[in-house]
Amino acid sequence: MLEFFQMGERRYARLPALARQGKLIHAFSTRPLDVSAREDARAPERAANRAIMARDLCGNPHSRVHHCQQVHKPRLEQVRDNEPPAAHRDCDGLWTTGRGVSLLVLSADCPLVLVYDPKRGAVGVCHSSWRCTVANLTSLLVQTLVREAGCDPRDLLAGIGPSAGPCCYEVMEDVRIAADVLPDADTLFPRAGDRMFFDLWAANAAQLRRAGIPDEQIEIGGVCTICSGDVFYSFRREGAGCGHFGLLAALA
Ligand SMILES: [Zn+2]
Repeated sequence: MLEFFQMGERRYARLPALARQGKLIHAFSTRPLDVSAREDARAPERAANRAIMARDLCGNPHSRVHHCQQVHKPRLEQVRDNEPPAAHRDCDGLWTTGRGVSLLVLSADCPLVLVYDPKRGAVGVCHSSWRCTVANLTSLLVQTLVREAGCDPRDLLAGIGPSAGPCCYEVMEDVRIAADVLPDADTLFPRAGDRMFFDLWAANAAQLRRAGIPDEQIEIGGVCTICSGDVFYSFRREGAGCGHFGLLAALA
């Protein structure tokens, strides 16, 4: 489930158990704040929106916001302390152990995943689109934190944000075939008559569990971007050119 809160005119959502972590800042933006990184005529306005989101959540107008270009590939980058804000090319996830570094991933229907280590002080986020899900990006995020930041998966807390849900995320046979590499693929595609749906929430929760995070430390927002009102941008509902909502995470 998600809880909502207001900052000025803007409304944000967060995952309740992660929100109770005093040294973690995190939230999902909602419409109409469009934080898309698309490079078109509205790019300056959206960059300003990303800065507004960081200021709302982190309280610092000069907060260093890092986002990724998101190319649907299982690649992550580390953001180091004092690294200047940047758009990280050719990756779909970011992680850091640096305090005050804001990580931002973007979505219109894809699950955004957050993994946090309250003991070691590390946080990572990723954009688990269906292609990234099939490529085990969420598992890779946990494995990277374990290998590079010395995290113990049993200490990690994780959250899966709003996205196209199993109620609405209809897919074709090509996606089902691509997902055959997942050990639990048989359980991830509920059917209704002729239609087949991809349960991205279950698929990513399973990756977090397989990487060693206890089930009770995994939180699922459970809000479908397609059918749960008009709160989050949805590519399936709005079509090409729609805006993006973001997940921002930082170590306080
Ligand atoms: Zn739905």
